[in-house]
Amino acid sequence: MTPKFTEVFNNLNWDEQKISIYSKTEDDVLSALKKSNLNLEDFKALISPAAESFLETMAQKSVQLTRQRFGNTMQIFAPLYLSNVCSNICTYCGFSINNKLRRKTLTDDEILAEAKALKKRGLENILLVTGEAPKTVGATYLKNAIELLKPHFAQINMEVQPLIGKEYEELIDAGLHGVSLYQETYHKGCYEEHHLVGNKKDMAFRLNSPDALGQQNIHKIALGVLIGLEDWRTDSLFCANHLRHLQKYYWKTRYAISFPRLRPCEGSYQVKHPISDRGFVQLILAWRLFDPDLDLTLSTRESQSFRDQICKLGITSMSAESSTQPGGYSDESTKHLEQFEIDDDRTIADVSAMLKKQGFEVVTKDWGWN
Ligand code: SF4
Repeated sequence: MTPKFTEVFNNLNWDEQKISIYSKTEDDVLSALKKSNLNLEDFKALISPAAESFLETMAQKSVQLTRQRFGNTMQIFAPLYLSNVCSNICTYCGFSINNKLRRKTLTDDEILAEAKALKKRGLENILLVTGEAPKTVGATYLKNAIELLKPHFAQINMEVQPLIGKEYEELIDAGLHGVSLYQETYHKGCYEEHHLVGNKKDMAFRLNSPDALGQQNIHKIALGVLIGLEDWRTDSLFCANHLRHLQKYYWKTRYAISFPRLRPCEGSYQVKHPISDRGFVQLILAWRLFDPDLDLTLSTRESQSFRDQICKLGITSMSAESSTQPGGYSDESTKHLEQFEIDDDRTIADVSAMLKKQGFEVVTKDWGWN
């Protein structure tokens, strides 16, 4: 039987891994920079403080690898929030059940209205997003939404609660292409501190859910950590271990990494472990050098000027004109239902124009699929 990720995870000690990263030297970084097939020790070196003085070299290599693998393309997508109902309390999220927020779950007509609004903007690739509320937005609701949207979009992806294998199988049969499933943090104590109520408290279930997706031969799995919850270097190393585990057993699946940075939201969460912009760039470069085939996604959580500057360094897909509220594209009255504030609020047309000016060919469909 294929081992699940928790079997790897349970043998990784957070403190030892952290010390190992912070002990890397400039020689370790230089050695990683000379290689074409990088291992986890090389990744540690590239995310370590020792690599901070090599960002220019890392950037040149990252740009070269990205162009070789992806050409000059940049994929654009937008999230479609189906519901802000959630049964969980996550201390950092505006959708937590304890936040006083008007709750809304889109009806079939409202889903189609959102689809129409996104199609008008030229998008072929959407990401369905919900809170975690199995009774309201469980597999049956999601299957219906995918079936409604399938005729209108080339690719449908989702970022929702973890499901079981049978449910994933049904959704893939209905037309689901990819799933984003972020662990948030791989630090056990921090995970418990921030996930107070609901199914998300079960850390092991979340850790093993990408295995359930891989077993169903899903086209694409996106992993990531919520940057700001714990030490970003150590969390990213755990995520790299997670990626290597999945790639070993589910080699037909493509993989993506996202770098969501904590943003202000309803509630009062203060970011305890912020990353600097320079650290954020180092992280993107390290991922690209670690795995040239990865899709690397940059969200509208980042500012307009920052996105414009760093999109050339290894990023392959960007969200644009994101509304983080259900009904946000077609219904003006849905203001104040949002999950978090976005920073780059330009339209898809404006982001596309910026990318074209930088020499990118903008694609609204993920050509790497099918
Ligand atoms: S992060 Fe997800 S599960 Fe947690 S409160 Fe927000 S929507 Fe719900």
